[in-house]
Amino acid sequence: MSAAEFDLIARIRARAGQRGGVVLGIGDDAALLQVPPDRQLVVTADTLNAGVHFPDATAPADIGWKSLAVNLSDLAAMGAVPAWCTLSLSLPQADPSWVDAFLDGFLDLADQHAIGLVGGDTTRGPLSISVTAMGLVESGGALRRDRARVGDDVWVTGTPGDAAAALEALQQGREAPKSLRQRLDRPMPRVAAGRRLSGLAHACIDISDGLLADLTHICESSGVGAEINLVELPASADLASVESNRRWGWQACGGDDYELCFTASPHNRDLIVQALDFTDVSATRIGRIVSEQGVRAFDADAQEWRPPSRGYEHFL
Ligand code: ADP
Ligand code: MG
Repeated sequence: MSAAEFDLIARIRARAGQRGGVVLGIGDDAALLQVPPDRQLVVTADTLNAGVHFPDATAPADIGWKSLAVNLSDLAAMGAVPAWCTLSLSLPQADPSWVDAFLDGFLDLADQHAIGLVGGDTTRGPLSISVTAMGLVESGGALRRDRARVGDDVWVTGTPGDAAAALEALQQGREAPKSLRQRLDRPMPRVAAGRRLSGLAHACIDISDGLLADLTHICESSGVGAEINLVELPASADLASVESNRRWGWQACGGDDYELCFTASPHNRDLIVQALDFTDVSATRIGRIVSEQGVRAFDADAQEWRPPSRGYEHFL
């Protein structure tokens, strides 16, 4: 390891902070973590590559925020409480000011969720950030994809489509409204909502690849189908006035939302609304789980709607 990389790790270590359950953090060959006896460890990893998962011109602090946010979103979708994370950085050059700015965003979000940075790796190469996040759930209490039941309501948190609308503007060389750009660069993982839904929801997933694509994962895992009423989709103030077909393209098929899509018994409708009352987000019922396989979306005239694409797929 070069002196420059050693210096970067020292900078990261100095700012990493403390968290319970860490017997050994940054500095040894590996971290040593104490999992409480009645909890299960939930582990997830996501990589962000420059130009693929964020536009090249994205500010380092936004990259830092987003690289943790996408992982916290996976913990949220499992109903887990964030506990620890690792950070693997591949950097074109050992640039301390870039790392400092990256940490501003990363550690801001880490502090908000009391997640401890306990290790990682620092190498030279094309800009790529890989985070592993670990969380805790009561044993047997995780929210899973494979538990949806026929007759369940389908719900979504927040206002999907904002990030996709911002990304489309950027790709076309236009400026996106600030509020939409914020949704793309600084997604808010729905951790509190996921926690409160455990015990109330049957199945849950976070929307990273598009609502219909991710709901299809729930349906395939659970051996069921779903019907979605697009007119029920909640839209942000920025998107509300956009012509519906265009808006639904972003809302139903656009990626990068990091909202939660979940299914639950109709008996739990009031409890779900109450449970999310004091979180940062509300949820809206948008359809139902049916026995016929596949996910179908319907427009205002109850006609089946054909999406322009089924969400963002790599390698297409
Ligand atoms: P090793 O050669 O044993 O893999 P490293 O020199 O890669 O050790 O890392 C030294 C210590 O610094 C380890 O505890 C590792 O987890 C931590 N570390 C390295 N890079 C990062 C990073 N980007 N973020 C957090 N911790 C890091
Ligand atoms: Mg290493």
